[in-house]
Amino acid sequence: MNSDPSVHVQANLDPDELDAPDGSVVAGASSAPPSAPDSARLEAVVAVLRGATRPLLFCHRSPDGDTVGSALALSMALQSLGSAPTVVCPDPLPRSLLFMPASEAVGTTLPRDADLLVTVDISDPVLLGPMCADLTRLRAGRTLLNIDHHASDTEYGDVNLVDVSAASTAEIVYDLIGALGVTIDRPMATGLLTGIINDTHSFQNSNSSARALTTAAALVDAGADPSGISHQLLLQRRPQAALLWGQALATMRLDEQGRVASAEATNLMLAQCQAEVTDLDGVVEFLRGIDGVDLAFLLKPTADGDSHFKASIRTTERVDAVELTAPFGGGGHRRAAGCDLAGPADVARDALLQRYRELVGS
Ligand code: 5GP
Ligand code: MN
Repeated sequence: MNSDPSVHVQANLDPDELDAPDGSVVAGASSAPPSAPDSARLEAVVAVLRGATRPLLFCHRSPDGDTVGSALALSMALQSLGSAPTVVCPDPLPRSLLFMPASEAVGTTLPRDADLLVTVDISDPVLLGPMCADLTRLRAGRTLLNIDHHASDTEYGDVNLVDVSAASTAEIVYDLIGALGVTIDRPMATGLLTGIINDTHSFQNSNSSARALTTAAALVDAGADPSGISHQLLLQRRPQAALLWGQALATMRLDEQGRVASAEATNLMLAQCQAEVTDLDGVVEFLRGIDGVDLAFLLKPTADGDSHFKASIRTTERVDAVELTAPFGGGGHRRAAGCDLAGPADVARDALLQRYRELVGS
C-alpha cells in the first residue's frame, strides 16, 4: 500500500547534525527553533484517529520506554475521546517500565474488532517479531498508521507520521495529542516523559534537542516527575544486574587503537547471575563513555543459545550506526542502532569490526 507523502513530516532539524566533536551541541544550534508541529500534517492523522472506534496500538519487541510510554499516552488520549483502544506488545514489559500508569494494560491478545492499526516507534514491521505476521494479516481492509522517529524507518504504513528530527516518538505523540484537542494529564505526561528520557538517556545523548527539553518541561508542568522516571527507568538496578554487568564487562575488548569497545553476555552468564537480558540495559552506554571510543557494541544473548546474538550499538559522530548495521539487516538511529548477528561471539565481533574498518578505515 502507498504511503501518503502529505503526512510524512520532513526533517527540518536533525539534532545529529548539531553535534560538536565532543558530543555537545554547537553554538547557535540551541537558538535554532525546535521543529514546529506541522498542523496540516497532524490534522490528517487526527482525522484517521478520530475515524476509529477500536484502534489497535503496537509496541516493538524488546519494548523500551519510548514505544510503551508513547503508545500508552496515545491510548489514554484516544480513550478520553470515547474510543476503545488496545495496546499490544510481542514481549512482556521489563520491570523498569512497570511504574508507568496503565502499563498492566499492555498485553498480547489481539482484539478481533480492531478498525485501525497504529505502530508506535517501530521503524520496520520485522521489529514486531512474532506479531509481524499478525500485522500483515490484520492489514487487509484496515488502515495502518506508522508513528515513528527512526532514521531507518521504511515508511511502511498507509499513513506515515515519521519525523526523524524528533529525539523520541513521545515528542511526536505529544504534538499529536495536542492536535487531537486532548489536555495532557499526569498519567499521559508520565508515559511521554518516559519516552523522552528513555531515548535521550536522561538528556545525555546528542539528540537532546531544544524540542526534547521544551516538550519535557511542558510534561513536568502537566505533572510528570523527571527524577522519579529517571530513577525507575535508568538508575535502579537489581543486585543480579550488578553481577551480570561484572561478568559482561570482564569480556570487554578495545580494538582499532582503542576506538572500538565491545563486550558480550552469554546465556550462561544470565543463568549464573539469575538475571535477564534487560539487566544489561546501560552497559553499552557505559562502554561508549570510555575515552577515545567511537564505536561501542554489546552482544546480547538470544533464545537461540549463543549461536545468535543481538548487538546493541552506540557511536560518536564519526560513525553512522545506521550505515554500520545496514549489511546485517539492522537499523535505528545514527548514534544508536542494533542488529542480529550469527555467532559464535568472536565471529559476531569480527563482523562488526570488519564493517567498522570498511566505513572508517583502519
Ligand atoms: P537498543 O540497543 O537500545 O536495543 O536499540 C537502539 C536503537 O536501535 C533503537 O532505536 C532500536 O529501535 C534500534 N534497533 C535495535 N535493533 C534493531 C534491529 O534489529 N533492526 C532495526 N531496524 N532497528 C533496531
Ligand atoms: Mn524511540
